[in-house]
Amino acid sequence: MDRLELTILGASSAIPLANRNPTSQFLTLASHHFLIDCGEGTQVRLRENNIGFSRIDKIFISHLHGDHFFGLAPLLSTLHLLDRQKEIHIYSPKGLKEVIHAQMKLQGSWLKYPVIFHNLNPNEEEVIFEDERVSVKAFPLRHSIPCFGFWFREKERPRKMLKSAIEQYSIPVTEIRQIKKGSDWVDEQGNLIPNRDLTESPAASLSYAYCTDTSPLEHLNQFIDSPDLLYHEATFMEEHAERAAQTYHSTARQAASVAKSVNARQLMVGHFSIRYNDLNPLLDEAKEVFPNTILAKDGQTYALRSSHEELVPLAR
Ligand SMILES: [Zn+2]
Ligand SMILES: [Zn+2]
Repeated sequence: MDRLELTILGASSAIPLANRNPTSQFLTLASHHFLIDCGEGTQVRLRENNIGFSRIDKIFISHLHGDHFFGLAPLLSTLHLLDRQKEIHIYSPKGLKEVIHAQMKLQGSWLKYPVIFHNLNPNEEEVIFEDERVSVKAFPLRHSIPCFGFWFREKERPRKMLKSAIEQYSIPVTEIRQIKKGSDWVDEQGNLIPNRDLTESPAASLSYAYCTDTSPLEHLNQFIDSPDLLYHEATFMEEHAERAAQTYHSTARQAASVAKSVNARQLMVGHFSIRYNDLNPLLDEAKEVFPNTILAKDGQTYALRSSHEELVPLAR
């Protein structure tokens, strides 16, 4: 398993096509699994991509347009039928809990496992999940209804112990954890060995930012800074910029300018309007402004192994 893996379960905008599904992504970062948006058919897409349902325990819903959450009730029902016991956390704009409750009530059953709804704050950015390995921040975007972006970040990793130092200074195994955190060492003769002689820098942390269904935000750099990978919607091309503005979406060129403004290392564009059969002109438009851009492709898993490598498509 790579440190960052992203599977595109759907990269279409509102209306699906045979080969482009409503929005959903499955992200693995530092051994955590996150489902991001859950458009219609997400559970089928998970099956097609051999992603076990039991791996999902955190779901992030950007906003309550159907193409981003119409797959949620079916997925939750399936987990119930599969006898899930473990709790599940859902982070979304307020209102989702009521919709799901109504659906479950009408179908005459309630879920066997705990579902914990977390309402996102529409007024400011907020860290919504954090542990010793990762943090997830939500921040408001600009769309026709409340909508949120997410920034998934690996925490700084512990320093790497030098094997040669363990032998040279006879360091007991029990002390290694502390030294990896940055402590110095005093050897048997009472000499202080500084941490820099005992360890080396860890690999840089990776991060992934997700921004869909939004007008281009000129202040996005207040929320995210230098993500290794930025997913940004590019629903339209510049020739339909007026339509993009009316519907609070972005063009490929605008997505590319945003990637530049937040100093992204790589940009992936998605949420394509069904008016574009061939997506290459859209890619070319983005690349004129931000050359390191790729298209999100349904059913493709990408891996990022370190902060100086490119995203690689994985063979299934
Ligand atoms: Zn959408
Ligand atoms: Zn929308």
